[in-house]
Amino acid sequence: MNLYILGATGNIGLQTLDIVRENKDKYNVESVSGNSNLEQMKKIIEEFNPRYVSMGKSEDVLKLEKLFPNIEYGYGSKGLISAAIYGELGNDLVVNAVVGSAGLEPTIEAIKAGRNIALANKETLVIGGEIINKLLQKHNVTIIPVDSEHSAIMQCLNGEHKSSIKNIIITASGGSFRDKTREELKRVTVKDALKHPNWSMGSKVTIDSATMMNKGLEVIEAHYLFDVDYSQIKTVMHRESVVHSLVEFNDTSVIAHLGNPDMRVPINYALSYPCRDTYNGKSLDLIALGSLHFEELSYSKYPLLKLAIDAGISKGLNPTTLNAANEAAVHLFLNGKIMFLQIEEIVRESLNVFKNDLDISLKKILERDLIVKDYIFRKYS
Ligand code: NAD
Ligand code: MG
Repeated sequence: MNLYILGATGNIGLQTLDIVRENKDKYNVESVSGNSNLEQMKKIIEEFNPRYVSMGKSEDVLKLEKLFPNIEYGYGSKGLISAAIYGELGNDLVVNAVVGSAGLEPTIEAIKAGRNIALANKETLVIGGEIINKLLQKHNVTIIPVDSEHSAIMQCLNGEHKSSIKNIIITASGGSFRDKTREELKRVTVKDALKHPNWSMGSKVTIDSATMMNKGLEVIEAHYLFDVDYSQIKTVMHRESVVHSLVEFNDTSVIAHLGNPDMRVPINYALSYPCRDTYNGKSLDLIALGSLHFEELSYSKYPLLKLAIDAGISKGLNPTTLNAANEAAVHLFLNGKIMFLQIEEIVRESLNVFKNDLDISLKKILERDLIVKDYIFRKYS
């Protein structure tokens, strides 16, 4: 199978390459994209020998061209799209492991090119879910989720009828600050926020886990992936991150997906879907685990969870405003420009300043994404 790996230099991208490394006879890396991590990209090219490479900036492409002259190159948003649609149509899978709204256009172009997508970039469905679901039908393309919760839900739904779903229950580790009070959250640092208890992830999704925005984005993602009403999507805090999510059916049966927290498991599943390839990970030791815990995720402690779900329910451009405000605010927090709790203030402010518009298009989504980020960077930088 030919793979087109977007965001190959990131956390999910590199774990995807771990799976490829173990299955070199099965996967062929046709294209990869990165943004600014030139050293990582050099290593990827040496090991996986892709035919097309895209980077964020043309300067980095010039440096790569000198070292690897026999590769085709692109850069910026055009290069990213070219990486998704490169080459002839065959037995293909695009892995979208880009972070942020930059992941939307390559997903759309991959669908139009008739390529199935293993989707880690949750922002794609959050801002573009309405457009994407129509395109998937039109082009007969499948999105296989990589996000661990959605991979779990998809597996719990195998062989089931949609009409028998009562509730989807998404678990949340609670992130780095799960035991802190709101008062303590006022003073937390970037370093504290980046210490996730169960997973090692990119910095943006680690901060989103601490604010619980990540769970809000995942609720919206689940709504579009599984075509389930928001009233049927529940969230629960689960410290161990062993139950990756659950589905409750009409007869009160609950099916859950369990495993050690290791993103290579859902990545391997997405790559080998509809089969399930062997992955030599660590088996879950139930006796050593002893017990599992489930607690309420409160909206008063995590207001961004509610803001996100409400934005999802209101549809239109509100999810784009929410997502853009969050991306900009997280960037400012990571760069020491704002305090942790200002992330939620900025997202709330943006949803008040930028009005919803239900008549959406790709052009309007991209415009809204830019103006919201611009507004926040000007005001808070
Ligand atoms: P990361 O920051 O480690 O990697 C992001 C990748 O995107 C990098 O390759 C980077 O070069 C690229 N990138 C960044 N900005 C870009 C831009 N403007 N244009 C093109 N490329 C750009 O992030 P990650 O942790 O790998 O997460 C990637 C996506 O997967 C996110 O949407 C995240 O929410 C989702 N996700 C991650 C995990 C995880 O365990 N890391 C789990 C579930 C879902
Ligand atoms: Mg997740």
